[in-house]
Amino acid sequence: MAAIDPFLARSRIAYFSMEIALRPDIHTYSGGLGVLAGDTARSAADLDVPVVFVTLVSREGYLRQEIDAEGRQVDHSDPWDPAEWATPLGAMVAVPIEGRQVWIRPWLYVLTCPVGHSVPVLLLDTRLEQNAPEDRGITDRLYGGDNAWRLRQEIVLGIGGEMLLQALGFEIETYHMNEGHAALLTAALLRRHPRTRRVATGDVLDYDDDRVREVCVFTTHTPVEAGHDHFAYDLVERQLDRLIPVSQLRLLGGEDRLNMTRLALNLSGFVNGVALRHAETTRQMFPGYTIRAVTNGVHVPTWTHPAMAALFQRIAPAWGHDPEQLAIADTLDDAEIRAAHDAAKADLVAEVRARTGVELRADLPVVAFARRMTGYKRPDLIFADLARLRAIHGARPFQLVMAGKAHPRDESGKALIQHIHRVTADMQGEVPLAFLPGYDMTLAKVMVAGADVWLNTPLPPMEASGTSGMKAAVNGGLNLSVLDGWWIEACIEGVTGWAVGGNDLRHEDDAQELYDKLERAVLPLWYDDPVRWTWMMKQAISKIAPRFNSQRMMRRYACEAYLR
Ligand SMILES: *Cc1c(COP(=O)(O)O)cnc(C)c1O
Repeated sequence: MAAIDPFLARSRIAYFSMEIALRPDIHTYSGGLGVLAGDTARSAADLDVPVVFVTLVSREGYLRQEIDAEGRQVDHSDPWDPAEWATPLGAMVAVPIEGRQVWIRPWLYVLTCPVGHSVPVLLLDTRLEQNAPEDRGITDRLYGGDNAWRLRQEIVLGIGGEMLLQALGFEIETYHMNEGHAALLTAALLRRHPRTRRVATGDVLDYDDDRVREVCVFTTHTPVEAGHDHFAYDLVERQLDRLIPVSQLRLLGGEDRLNMTRLALNLSGFVNGVALRHAETTRQMFPGYTIRAVTNGVHVPTWTHPAMAALFQRIAPAWGHDPEQLAIADTLDDAEIRAAHDAAKADLVAEVRARTGVELRADLPVVAFARRMTGYKRPDLIFADLARLRAIHGARPFQLVMAGKAHPRDESGKALIQHIHRVTADMQGEVPLAFLPGYDMTLAKVMVAGADVWLNTPLPPMEASGTSGMKAAVNGGLNLSVLDGWWIEACIEGVTGWAVGGNDLRHEDDAQELYDKLERAVLPLWYDDPVRWTWMMKQAISKIAPRFNSQRMMRRYACEAYLR
């Protein structure tokens, strides 16, 4: 049984995230945000940074994706059993929601890294006998339910999480909010710093917000206004039940609606976007705030195929702990790196066969596209001109593998999956195309390692960072991506991969530019110059792994945000 005691005196930083991908068996994540939080936790453990992680238990998971015969996504719950992986702790706290006391009990999951350091993760749970039946399910389903339900989850995470840390005896010096979902944490902290001010009409109670700013760090991930969580104040007033006066929230979270990003911005002494470009976009969206950039990274040993890992182990024994050592990966032997990639590609070919019955050829290039199925990610861009796609394939054949879930309430995302399904049927016997259902950590590992080309075609500036391309690169995959998010910082044309577009004002040309690149750069290189291709694989590893890893990201948070 894991115990919390060893962590109490030690943990100085609390990291709050609605989702976190701890391991494939624990379904407490939906996609990139959670995977980033998981990689952050793995790196905090590696570097022995004293962080405690706080999230919801989400015992029904997020979404098990089934694709029916018509290509429609069918949504199922995706349960996991906390008792199998975590220890229930004795402490409980109650937050008032809608006039009722909602009790919260944490489960403790201990994440231990290969060199033996550990970080604690608290998984908040409201499925307790003490709770009214309608409140027991608050923490069941990640992003489940309507707006009111979402607000309840955010109250449990932000306010309940802060109260639990106190109740357990943690002495936290810095609170890090991963995205706006946790912003109500600031309200809990304000309540700890009341003050009375004398004004002309008498004494007023308010809060010492400077004290809160001193201890809060906020990482924003959303480059579009519509993507930010916001709630009507009458809803907030009903649910928050006098925890904090709504008049106070209006001053800090927006006049018309409670905008969680604005609340977090106003109460954080350190705010950052997740790539240079994204920080710029955020500055334009929220003028007047100091927005820094800490570019995301991935936990390299988590995402490296075992065959590639064995090569790295030989040339740089501490690469997993310190991926900077992979700068020398460009000295790897060509035949060895091709053999390691072939092993990873064979796994992908087998996975595609097992999941779809489609038989891919290992001697032809595999282009992969896997990400959340939603409008701005443009999973259909490559299908903009099917005649052209067929012609390119006719000259130099390639194969396409796709995956990704649509959020259960994103109808246009679901329509994109159906569209891909129809195109797949249309091109049967011509361009080989497979859509793999159930994109998750396990499938992502197979895809990023086995793909030859990692395709990414978001509509700029909507991709805050993107991380799956980093995972592909550390496996020797070559990115073919629109210049947005992290790729602006990592792309060296014809060296680490290829850029699509680049003209921010003319995105209607992106599809033609994508075809041009495939036809004139990517496929000719594969077919005519395999030696140069292998050289590029080594360039991708040696230039991207040393920089776009989560240990570097964690060190930056530790120095710049936590040691402020
Ligand atoms: C890495 C990862 C993501 C992030 O993908 P991007 O679209 O590149 O941000 C999403 N889902 C899973 C399962 C991942 O492993």
